[in-house]
Amino acid sequence: MAEHESLEFGKADFVLLDSVSLEEFMANLKLRFEKGRIYTYIGEVVVSVNPYRAMNIYGRDTIEQYKGRELYERPPHLFAIADAAYKAMKRRNKDTCIVISGESGAGKTEASKYIMQYIAAITNPGQRAEVERVKNMLLKSNCVLEAFGNAKTNRNDNSSRFGKYMDINFDFKGDPIGGHINNYLLEKSRVIFQQEGERSFHSFYQHTHTHTHTHTHTHTHTHTHTHTHTHTHTHTHTHTHTHTHTHTHTHTHTHTHTHTHTHTHTHTHTHGGNLTFGVDGDTTLIENSKVVAVIGVLLATKEENVEKALLYRTVATGRDVIDKQHTTQEASYGRDALAKAMYERMFCWIVGRINDVIEVKNYDAKVHGKNTVIGVLDIYGFEIFQNNSFEQFCINYCNEKLQQLFIQLVLRQEQEEYQREGIPWKHIDYFNNQIIVDLVELQHKGIFSVLDEACMNVGKVTDEVFLQGLNSKLAKHAHYTSRKLSPTDKSLEFDRDFRIRHYAGDVMYSVVGFIDKNKDTLFQDFKRLLYNSSNPVLKMMWPEGKLSITEVTKRPLTAATLFKNSMIALVENLACKEPYYVRCIKPNDVKSPLLFEHERCRHQVEYLGLLENVRVRRAGFANRQDYPRFLQRYKMISEFTWPNHDLPSDKEAVKRLVQGCGFEHDVAYGKTKVFVRTPRTLFCLEEQRDEM
Ligand code: ATP
Ligand code: MG
Repeated sequence: MAEHESLEFGKADFVLLDSVSLEEFMANLKLRFEKGRIYTYIGEVVVSVNPYRAMNIYGRDTIEQYKGRELYERPPHLFAIADAAYKAMKRRNKDTCIVISGESGAGKTEASKYIMQYIAAITNPGQRAEVERVKNMLLKSNCVLEAFGNAKTNRNDNSSRFGKYMDINFDFKGDPIGGHINNYLLEKSRVIFQQEGERSFHSFYQHTHTHTHTHTHTHTHTHTHTHTHTHTHTHTHTHTHTHTHTHTHTHTHTHTHTHTHTHTHTHTHTHGGNLTFGVDGDTTLIENSKVVAVIGVLLATKEENVEKALLYRTVATGRDVIDKQHTTQEASYGRDALAKAMYERMFCWIVGRINDVIEVKNYDAKVHGKNTVIGVLDIYGFEIFQNNSFEQFCINYCNEKLQQLFIQLVLRQEQEEYQREGIPWKHIDYFNNQIIVDLVELQHKGIFSVLDEACMNVGKVTDEVFLQGLNSKLAKHAHYTSRKLSPTDKSLEFDRDFRIRHYAGDVMYSVVGFIDKNKDTLFQDFKRLLYNSSNPVLKMMWPEGKLSITEVTKRPLTAATLFKNSMIALVENLACKEPYYVRCIKPNDVKSPLLFEHERCRHQVEYLGLLENVRVRRAGFANRQDYPRFLQRYKMISEFTWPNHDLPSDKEAVKRLVQGCGFEHDVAYGKTKVFVRTPRTLFCLEEQRDEM
């Protein structure tokens, strides 16, 4: 008996449930988790439950089992999805993408790495040197990005604090020839503040010396040394001095004797937290001025320039330029903004250097050759915390966008194909979250616009002004409310809260900090300071510091606008690709391999919209194959088709075969393809085939 139908392990595809109810869904999910079957399909979507233990299912032998096979031929696995995306790309010349979603600790990043490993393992049979180099770089880039972009949080010891989208480019042979990484919204506030029990980015605790030396000419060897040193001196109970020394060295040597030599000498020393400000009469001063000298050396600039940038702000008033002294509060704000901005720039710079080495090099391949892409998206899932702020708002908006994309793509794809093939299609109703996407992003009316307006207010610029703006613009919106609008609603406890009814559930946001986080001000003085550094890398990172105060006219775009633009671009990019989905579920909050916390899991199933997914899938056809391929695979189970048929067409032969098995009711015949409604039929066909 093929494993996919074995009751012992539950249903391999949720579409096979006897009835689509939450109870049945949960029972199946739990059973499979307990039996160590961490993957289950909903059609072509993989639902994955984090096993929190090493699984012996990612080795070379497993890869071989999935290579080139169809989805339903093997037990559900990430490799099957990776293979499906790869096959579509290679055979049908389609750009594809794999969208991985789920909450923190659900296993997104691990899944993305297994997918990349699988693709690396099944490509480049000819062992071409340049392809090997690219594959190595793609795989190794994870480790650098994790060092700088991941941190220990209370939810995940290795939590990605940024969103990541990676394109892998393939040539006409289907071998990877390059790639490109986009990063989204790094949680830079972590540099200056961490919740109790959490840490700053891994890089702050590592002395990393990564030396990747690749000789692609004859053989490949890679050395990776990681030394971890922690220098943390706690001066007082509030002041922490963290000393980080990061050294990344990537050296590539190819047989054409082209050297790509990236030598990042990225000393990042955060002394910021050690700087405190005081007052003497009317003067703001730095209390521990020795630190300033150290910062001066590290930023390769004069000590007095650092001091001036920390204590004064140059402002243009009409034709005059004056130095305006900061209050201690402003100075502290400036210090924190500097630390955050420097880390963020450095992170983007690292992504840029990685992109330099993985960029498609071969001009011919880029311009003339067939160049197809598989994109892998590993991005933060929906977040509902005790206290939700601007960051959660952005992240949840991102998930609304992805959900909208899912709706559009699943429906559009299905509809287009049915139309093309002449199959009648009945529309399936489910919640369309476009209204929430609009609530956030619409010009003039959306929350981001209201926020930007509040930030540009000439008079008072406070979080309360923003909230008033929301209340007046959105008073009638079905998905928005606040204490002012619903005074009797007990769950709206504070005046500063507003509530959004997301597709995944209600989330209360506190407006506190929205204005500051959105403006994300870094005083121009710091930009000039860094631009004038004699360290060429620092200088390069801060090109806008070139402008003198009188030249600076444009306001920098707000954080919300930047994020919105990057999300719109991301979704546009994904929308033109054929999507594959991995939905990750976190079984418990204690990292246990044994515990399936029902309520936690149920909540995730609900907000990931998995039941709706099953319903849509069941309404449509689970599988479609062109007639020759279907015959090729199943012709041995019918006397009319084995070993060859004498019917007028393959279509007729397939009809005969299907009738013989008694599946007519479950099948529709398109112009070029046979459509099978339920996976059960496919599994039965597979079984009959196995029995031959
Ligand atoms: P975040 O949003 O915080 O980045 P994430 O969804 O990327 O979270 P991962 O970092 O991928 O979560 O997974 C968290 C941890 O769970 C891993 O460090 C690992 O210990 C465990 N884990 C995840 N997937 C697997 C797996 N397939 N096999 C074994 N362990 C796993
Ligand atoms: Mg992650």
